[in-house]
Amino acid sequence: MTPESQLVRHAGKLYEKGWMAGTSGNLSVRTEDGIRITPSGKHKGELSVADLVAVSGQGQDPVHSSARPSAEISLHQTIYRNRTEARAVYHVHTVEANVVSQWAKSGNLEMPPLEMLKGFAWKGYDPRPFLPVFANDPDVGAIAGELETYFHCRRGFTLPGFLIRLHGLTVWGDSPDSAFKHIELFDFLFRFMVLSRPFSSGTCS
Ligand SMILES: [Zn+2]
Repeated sequence: MTPESQLVRHAGKLYEKGWMAGTSGNLSVRTEDGIRITPSGKHKGELSVADLVAVSGQGQDPVHSSARPSAEISLHQTIYRNRTEARAVYHVHTVEANVVSQWAKSGNLEMPPLEMLKGFAWKGYDPRPFLPVFANDPDVGAIAGELETYFHCRRGFTLPGFLIRLHGLTVWGDSPDSAFKHIELFDFLFRFMVLSRPFSSGTCS
């Protein structure tokens, strides 16, 4: 199965989970000549490989298609440029990702020390990892700039993903299957965080 057909299969699964509702979210894979990414405005439950838009690794222009690539292509390009191991980048909108994105302090969301973190090759004795949370911005290029800075400045263990506040989750992996797994792991962590949030955290008079 080619990376492109794996992406299409994953798009159907992610749609069925309710994580790509409407026409939201975008998925891409790295290819020999650049990137294949989901088109803008296309329903993710009805994709075929022929719908994917070919884009160069750097530029904005579609290479082989008249369809428009996802508006968030610059985020994908920033990840592929900075993470040479990345072969797939998946971006979804889940309810829990939106909820926990509001809890980040100073742009970092501390992950709970769950066994599931080991799915990211985190060792139990490492400090608890943080997931970066960027402000949402109608100018996606501004978010891509923040992400570029993060890649240049971050040291030590880093999780293969980030949140955009009140928007969604983006992950990458060294294969489409790996990116899909990372979406599932983060979803588990976020659901745990939502369910274990103390009910007493509201304001009392
Ligand atoms: Zn989005």
